Amino acid sequence: MSGFAWVTLATNDSYSLGALVLAHSLKQAGTAHQLAVLVTPGVTNVMRKNLNDVFNVVEEVNLFDSKDEANLRLLKRPELGVTFTKLHCWRLTQFEKCVFLDADVLVLVNADELFERDEFSAAPDVGWPDCFNSGVFVYRPSMETYNKLVDFALQKGSFDGGDQGLLNAYFSDWAHKDISKHLPFIYNMCSTACYSYLPAFKYYGGNVKIVHFIGPAKPWLQYFDTESRIVQPSPDLQHLQEVLQKWWDIFCSLIHPKLT
Ligand code: UDP
Ligand code: MN
Repeated sequence: MSGFAWVTLATNDSYSLGALVLAHSLKQAGTAHQLAVLVTPGVTNVMRKNLNDVFNVVEEVNLFDSKDEANLRLLKRPELGVTFTKLHCWRLTQFEKCVFLDADVLVLVNADELFERDEFSAAPDVGWPDCFNSGVFVYRPSMETYNKLVDFALQKGSFDGGDQGLLNAYFSDWAHKDISKHLPFIYNMCSTACYSYLPAFKYYGGNVKIVHFIGPAKPWLQYFDTESRIVQPSPDLQHLQEVLQKWWDIFCSLIHPKLT
């Protein structure tokens, strides 16, 4: 067993489906590393059983049960709940280094080389490229960093109300300090890039290793024809039909049969 792990998060059963497909995509890409998922009480027992079958670690994170001091202070700011849930990934100190992946991400090609990077590495955000997108990032689990992040969040909040604003404010030298901490866009190709810069997508799209379905158009919300077994993406995701088909092929063959 290596000291490296891919980590994701699911607070409900919909995002758990994303996490399951993501885990299978990592395995199909032949990763050498472990898989961990953070879950909250909103995930049903049936879904936890399925997660347990694929992930090496299923870690319950529950802001309201925890005994540690940082968590108790969080109780005073319930509106930051989902944001803080992601911060729990720093508590997985059984691992030396991790790559966090949102549950709305799909791995197309082995990307184990990401573990050669250091904290804090991430790819630019398409909306404001001097910010990183927090759907894919390399980090080092540490209770010290976790506590510092919580303190920072309590003092300063998050400029966008989510984890991305918080993490960008905390790791504020990312934009200019060390280019090795800028992950190439192919490790977090945001789905909106297909229509905001279509020629680039056509030219470079074949190199993409990790696709991220940001915004409301999630893979599990796309129309899937059960007769033909073909996904019919919404207009804004037309260019990702092939990738969405891969998502649904994994879902139909490896996950759906186990849900009933
Ligand atoms: N998430 C979750 N439940 C929610 C919302 C978010 O588990 O109700 C987790 C999940 O891992 C998700 C991540 O937080 O991928 C970030 O949210 P999302 O991907 O929806 O944000 P976007 O990438 O669209 O900005
Ligand atoms: Mn996401």
